[in-house]
Formats: sequence, structure tokens, C-alpha cells
Amino acid sequence: MPWLPRGARLAPPARALAALTAADLPSGKKGSDNREVTGRRQLLAVLASACGLAPVVAWFAGGTAAPADAARRFPIEKSDDAWRAALSPAQFEVLRRHDTERAFSSPLDHEKRSGTFFCAGCGHPLFSSAAKFDSGTGWPSFWAPLDDAVGTTVDTSWLMIRTEVHCARCGGHLGHVFSDGPRPTGLRYCMNGLALRFEAAAPSAGTPPPARGV
Ligand SMILES: [Zn+2]
Repeated sequence: MPWLPRGARLAPPARALAALTAADLPSGKKGSDNREVTGRRQLLAVLASACGLAPVVAWFAGGTAAPADAARRFPIEKSDDAWRAALSPAQFEVLRRHDTERAFSSPLDHEKRSGTFFCAGCGHPLFSSAAKFDSGTGWPSFWAPLDDAVGTTVDTSWLMIRTEVHCARCGGHLGHVFSDGPRPTGLRYCMNGLALRFEAAAPSAGTPPPARGV
């Protein structure tokens, strides 16, 4: 998943701190015993963000630390072998192993046609082109998903607390959502293009599906 601070999208430390509220933490982390640990994590996250170190940390850390969605149940579930057979190796790493594609590597980052973005794993409609915007981060970005399209989990990997976004139907990892997006929602769904499949609207089909939150 696309990283929180990336070049011009770097969030000011104060803003990052404000975003790290107790409500964002897993229930198991709210106890007093964890406050010191949580505070330390938040401080590390902010420092890494402020110093632009997060991508470096991620690069050298290797591997992935997926949010705890392994026990979740989704309408579509397959074995790893079945997913590997259905996806390209790069798609598998993103969708099923929470990998992050290289910034500016996805053609969908520049996709400007009207249409719908579907889950590359199961075909679930996720985003309308009406909610797409150029975030400058190098990843396809949207200010809202379609209704009932995605789910979220708290992601504490890479010494940061972020909100992970996954397909509501197959659980495939899509990216993360941040609170520095444009109006009307103020959200930035920062998605891996490898996790998406775009279908342009037919010329006679009119407008694409409306985006949520409008
Ligand atoms: Zn899916």
C-alpha cells in the first residue's frame, strides 16, 4: 500500500498526530498497559513521516505485515493456490500478501476515462471514475468507494498506524485510506493499480455509477 507521506503528500507531524486517535486503534490496544507502547509507536510513525523515512524503512524491512484479516470471512474465499492460479504473481503479492506496487508504475494512475474500477481478484465493483483524482503520489487515488465496496482494518505494520482497505467481497488488499483527500469527503483512498481492473463506460451508457458521499 501506498505510503502515507510521499513527496508533496507528506503530512505535517501535527496533522499525523491528530489523525492517530484512540478510535483508530485496535480494541486490544486501548488498555493502559499499552498506552506507552502505543505512544511510542505513534511517535515513531510521526518521526518517520516527518523525516520521510517511512518509505526507507519499508524498503529495507522486507516482507509484509498484513493486518489481522486472516480469520475474517468473506463471500469469496479461495486457497492461496487457487488465488495464485487466478492472479499474476504481482497481483497475488498485492492482493493476498499486502505488497505495495512501485509508485508511478500503474497505467491506471493516469486513467481518466469514465468507467468503473473493479477488484482484480473477484470482479467486485469498487470505485467510480467520478471519484478519481490525481493525488500526485503515483498511485490511483479516489475520494470515495462505491457503496458496500470495501472494508477497512487498522494496519500497524512498518511502525505506522494506517487504515488498510480491502475488497468487501474477497478480502483482497487494495491499499490504504488517509484523511488528506479532497472534498467532498476529505479522504484519499490510495490504491494499488495491480489490485484494480478498469472498464470504460460504453459511449451510450451515460454516466458511471455515482460515488458514495455525494
Ligand atoms: Zn475482490
